Amino acid sequence: MSRVDLPSLATASQDEVARQMTICNACRYCEGLCAVFPAMELRRVFEGPDADYLANLCHNCGACYYDCQYAPPHEFGVNVPQAMTELREESYARFAWPRALAPIFARNGLWIALISMISVAGFILGFALWSDPGALTASGNFYAVMPHNAMVALFGPIFLFSLFAMGMSVRQFWQSAHIGNRTPVTLRALWQAMRDAGKLRYLDGGGMGCMTQSTRPDRHRRVFHHFTFYGFLLCFASTSSGTIMHYLLDWPAPYGFWTPPKLLGVPGGLGLVIGAAGLIWYDLKRDDALRPKDKTGMGPAFTWTLLALGATGLALYWLRETPAMGVLLALHLGTVFAFFLTMPYGKFMHGLYRFAALTRHAHEQATHTTTIATAPIEGRTRA
Ligand code: SF4
Ligand code: SF4
Repeated sequence: MSRVDLPSLATASQDEVARQMTICNACRYCEGLCAVFPAMELRRVFEGPDADYLANLCHNCGACYYDCQYAPPHEFGVNVPQAMTELREESYARFAWPRALAPIFARNGLWIALISMISVAGFILGFALWSDPGALTASGNFYAVMPHNAMVALFGPIFLFSLFAMGMSVRQFWQSAHIGNRTPVTLRALWQAMRDAGKLRYLDGGGMGCMTQSTRPDRHRRVFHHFTFYGFLLCFASTSSGTIMHYLLDWPAPYGFWTPPKLLGVPGGLGLVIGAAGLIWYDLKRDDALRPKDKTGMGPAFTWTLLALGATGLALYWLRETPAMGVLLALHLGTVFAFFLTMPYGKFMHGLYRFAALTRHAHEQATHTTTIATAPIEGRTRA
């Protein structure tokens, strides 16, 4: 049996990315648009792990779809953003830990997030009603609704489990995607990847912006992505500062506006709401050929959970001195629980896998003997 007769061990999505990359590698018209094409040019075959790596390097800006002379209705049917999106979503399940949970979340992500949020909120409300109904309307006193130790007992295990599961998943992805390049990653490559991730460098369609319904690009998606990303980081910093104040400074919540948890948390919450709502709106107006097909899985669940996280956190801050405090606290904590629960099995992982892919790309570009000039990435413009 010759090499070409061997059955493929790759998945259908990996095979499709490999097919399209083989066409692109002969064409190379899009080589200046993003990191995917220079990475592709370092290869002649695209086996499963290479396809996973390239898929997580793609930022779905859509530029190569509109530039492509082989896009449908051409018989080659090249739609790189869509093929990459499908493989990326498949990779969340393939590298998930424990793997058995991944298909359950992949098919029902939105429902799992919603049900866990309502269940935990209902549990907290029931707990307060049972122990002290007046606590629900006790202005600003969160720990009257649920004691701090009970919160730690509820959220600590799920948070630690999620951290561990995400660590295992990234390890599996890195081991798979790093095949064939065993030289240690340098600090310089790591720094380059951090700069590219922090600026969302490859979400600009080669300098012109993301594509929506037409060939006219705009920068809305990149801006909303920035709001979401930095909003999330600020919220994380806010929660961390609250933990430090509680345990190290013996200063329990609630906190006033001029304290780190609020100075970080309020802009963070606003960033999450603006960013997540913007991304949902942007996806709705996108060309069907570029929009993810998944409507109830982990992709939409992630964005909606982030929106609910920001909205309930802000509502709790503004209405904490009113009788609505108890219900809003329960809803916010329910959303936090749903977020922790779904984090390792969905789109949250794309940030971690993408960072790993960007690190490998920076490393590959620096170490490969056939140097691919990066200058066209900055200089490329579309007609
Ligand atoms: S997306 Fe189309 S135009 Fe761009 S490199 Fe691939 S085949 Fe060529
Ligand atoms: S990042 Fe944009 S240009 Fe690059 S492969 Fe993805 S959709 Fe195409």
